[in-house]
Amino acid sequence: MKNQAAVNYNDGRFQPVTEKCEGCGRIVEQEEVQYCKSFLYPDAKWKLGFCNMATHAKPEINIIKVRINPLKAAKRASKRK
Ligand code: SF4
Repeated sequence: MKNQAAVNYNDGRFQPVTEKCEGCGRIVEQEEVQYCKSFLYPDAKWKLGFCNMATHAKPEINIIKVRINPLKAAKRASKRK
């Protein structure tokens, strides 16, 4: 009996990965073409920013610290009442 892979990535449903996917742990290679094992259209995952399942890249989150003067904050709070 022939040993078959559980998923056939080159049956036309899966699109090859894009260059942005390079280095991702979800890439699988079949017949020298790289596919994503999570998504059919890897390019679409990068259209609106970072792919949410990428293992190699994450969006940078900037945490901005805002200094609050406790006296002014108390004044503002008392005015709202
Ligand atoms: S999970 Fe996202 S980044 Fe990784 S290979 Fe798939 S589409 Fe590309």
